[in-house]
Amino acid sequence: MNLVVILKRLLKILKNQNKMECKYFKKSEFTCKCGCGKTVISDELLYMLDKARGFAKIPFKINSGYRCSDHPESKKNPKSSHIKGLAVDIECKDSNTRAIMMDALVFAEFERFGLHKSFIHVDIDVVDKVSPVIWLY
Ligand SMILES: [Zn+2]
Repeated sequence: MNLVVILKRLLKILKNQNKMECKYFKKSEFTCKCGCGKTVISDELLYMLDKARGFAKIPFKINSGYRCSDHPESKKNPKSSHIKGLAVDIECKDSNTRAIMMDALVFAEFERFGLHKSFIHVDIDVVDKVSPVIWLY
């Protein structure tokens, strides 16, 4: 773990502490889709997503938020940031929407992206994983 990364993360949490109310999302949008009904999602992630959504001024459909350890995708990828409640996949099916969303997500200070032709993955798993990074599916 890099000390600078940890300090930046702490600073961001402190900065965001008093503005946790979420304007654009309901917690249920991040519920695990295996059928368990559990929702574990980071307040910091919600705050950053809300900030990005406000900047983008277009709908963000959450394809996948929290995934419990029984979710089929978690069994395929046990190190997934979705299991920690630190990741979301946002539906994104065309190049114009992708550019608008990426601009907004960078504005909201996301540093880890996965680009798929039908969604954008973002996560804030920056203590355990490398950043900045953009990978392709
Ligand atoms: Zn589940």
